[in-house]
Amino acid sequence: MPKALGTCIQPDNEENFRGQFHCQLCPEKILLTEKQLEVHLQSTAHKRKERHFERAKAMGLEAYEAECRERAAARESQAAAQLAGALSKKKQKNADFWKQRKLRKKAKSGACVEGGEQTPNQPPETAKRRRKPKSD
Ligand SMILES: [Zn+2]
Repeated sequence: MPKALGTCIQPDNEENFRGQFHCQLCPEKILLTEKQLEVHLQSTAHKRKERHFERAKAMGLEAYEAECRERAAARESQAAAQLAGALSKKKQKNADFWKQRKLRKKAKSGACVEGGEQTPNQPPETAKRRRKPKSD
């Protein structure tokens, strides 16, 4: 591990990098000029990585990876929960507010336009098989 963590290095191996600048923490980042590297170093994306890296270093890579997996799993289940309609309290409150408001408006205008969740009730394809008359 190099000591200068979080700093971008300019590789001296020109054959590999063709004179490009290269960020240790963001290997996918292509930096053509020193200016770009400077800008990159100040970028949120890089700083976030830097923080993650520091954290990984502090708690140990394995623990960090475990945490990452946990967080990813939590994020996924949260997203799934949101899709299922379980909104966060704040969002739920917000949604309630608009619902109430819509209802009130509806009541005023007297129009009955209940939420358009229509599932087309198509019958499943009938699995009738007709025997083709064999011609021999
Ligand atoms: Zn970087």
